[in-house]
Amino acid sequence: MIIFILNWFFILFLLCIFQVNLVTTTHLPNYRFTRTNNNDLYTCLSSLLPLTVRTIYPCSTIANQNNFQCKCVHFNITNLSAIRGGRFSHSPAVIVYVTDSSDVQNVLACAANLNYVVNALSGGHSYEGYGLGSTYNNIIINMEGINYIKINQHDRTGTFGAGTRLGPIYYEAYQSDNYTINAGSCPWVGLAGHALGGGYGLLSRLHGLLSDNVLEMKAVNAQGELLTINETHEPDLYWALRGGGGGSFVIVTEFKIRLVKAPLLTTQYSLVWYPNASKLVIQRYQLLMFNNTIFNLSNDLFVSMTVNHLEITISITYFGIELDVLKRTVALLLETLPTPNITKIHSEDWLTFVYDGLGLGNSNVDHRYLLFKNLTMPTYCFKAKHLFYDKPISDHGLDQFLNRIALGIGELYITFSPWDGHIHTIPIDKTAFPHRRYKFGIQLMIYCNDTNSEKKQMKWLNEIYSTIYHDSTKHSYINYIDRDVPSWMDYYYNTHQQRLHNLKYLYDKNNRFYFEKTIK
Ligand SMILES: Cc1cc2nc3c(=O)[nH]c(=O)nc-3n(C[C@H](O)[C@H](O)[C@H](O)COP(=O)(O)OP(=O)(O)OC[C@H]3O[C@@H](n4cnc5c(N)ncnc54)[C@H](O)[C@@H]3O)c2cc1C
Repeated sequence: MIIFILNWFFILFLLCIFQVNLVTTTHLPNYRFTRTNNNDLYTCLSSLLPLTVRTIYPCSTIANQNNFQCKCVHFNITNLSAIRGGRFSHSPAVIVYVTDSSDVQNVLACAANLNYVVNALSGGHSYEGYGLGSTYNNIIINMEGINYIKINQHDRTGTFGAGTRLGPIYYEAYQSDNYTINAGSCPWVGLAGHALGGGYGLLSRLHGLLSDNVLEMKAVNAQGELLTINETHEPDLYWALRGGGGGSFVIVTEFKIRLVKAPLLTTQYSLVWYPNASKLVIQRYQLLMFNNTIFNLSNDLFVSMTVNHLEITISITYFGIELDVLKRTVALLLETLPTPNITKIHSEDWLTFVYDGLGLGNSNVDHRYLLFKNLTMPTYCFKAKHLFYDKPISDHGLDQFLNRIALGIGELYITFSPWDGHIHTIPIDKTAFPHRRYKFGIQLMIYCNDTNSEKKQMKWLNEIYSTIYHDSTKHSYINYIDRDVPSWMDYYYNTHQQRLHNLKYLYDKNNRFYFEKTIK
């Protein structure tokens, strides 16, 4: 009898292993570059695309430049990315500047016939330059030409070309009866990459993530078909494209987004201490995040904290006109803290507040708008890491953290930001964004001047990161993507990784949209 039962356990054990394998072993192909020239690609694209569509062939990927029918250009792809640094090295087969969805469809048709990897580039703000892809001889579809903005006041929605940047959207929506979007604070960030990964910003405690307000998308799939994606058409894709990150499933060409009313007034307190108060201030911030009986923060408050080796700053931003709410919170926060070395307070209308982040708050309105139409986007040499927390960092962890910060020199910014409020009220399985139970996130960022200083700074960054890793949830936000994370599916997608993996296989089983941190 015992042997019989043991046999059954053994069979069950085997079945379990077998089932797990059934669910997890759908492998996607990895691409290896084997071509000696791109002549076929040139012939295909020039036969399908209108002459008005610009295509650029970098010389480094053309085997015989003299015999090739098309002109090549000496070109550095890093010019297309907001991120500088020694981490990008590959060269694409071609960069296509599309002007509408049908151009995207035609490029995908050639790519599918000739087996090329395709990557979409919108705002170029991926932290690791993934808008350029990550494999040699890929096709880059530059979306910047699809940048229309249509505001519909009647149903409070905006329809945007996927290549639009956040800055012009903030501007145009505000001109239409003071609407806005609940998105991030850098106006040069591209709408597409931002919304597909979540889209977090100052209004997130009040209105959730930008992806929570995405109502519909138009997109081209790996076979070159144009899809309409919403709650009833392609509902699985609708789920995956709201928080599952850019670049894995389809190329989105249009977003329809629910607009929100901009705050009537935005007021911010900045409290600055020099570093000797750091531990006390961080502990107080953590109490504010976790103790709801002392601090019952309403969703119209956004409290963040920036730490570096010189000073520590708490910023309390309030969206509303009852300034007593703000004053009470500041007084409560300061109850057990030393008086800040600097206290600043300023109140502005929403648009001025958004542009103030760039030092443009007081400029002439037209000049602000032109900035995004005509000026070159700024580029940064930096590396970032990010972690979510569901409990405070321990005393011991904080000591190690502050000791490590003090050991380095150079530009370092560590930001603690709240991820609760309205973000928590949305059911976890409603969209692909899985981190709706965490209280705050910490983003560590170093800036560098060149490849040498980048390496040195990255060592410092990694050392600080390791002091706070243990107390974290070991999960992070896909829009703060980091190529050094080995098990990224769990790190970014937590409980949603299996469903995303299955959908990737369903929509892109040939891995046409491959890049090194794609859904796998
Ligand atoms: C200076 C700076 C400030 C930032 N501030 C914030 C912030 O406040 N809040 C926040 O949440 N994030 C912020 N981010 C992160 C930002 O949201 C992500 O990097 C986002 O992915 C950038 O989108 P993009 O279109 O500009 O980037 P890209 O580099 O063009 O694209 C990013 C990824 O999306 C894919 N992709 C691009 N377009 C499409 C498309 N049309 N269809 C399908 N896939 C596409 C790309 O292939 C790539 O994998 C910031 C980044 C920087 C550099």
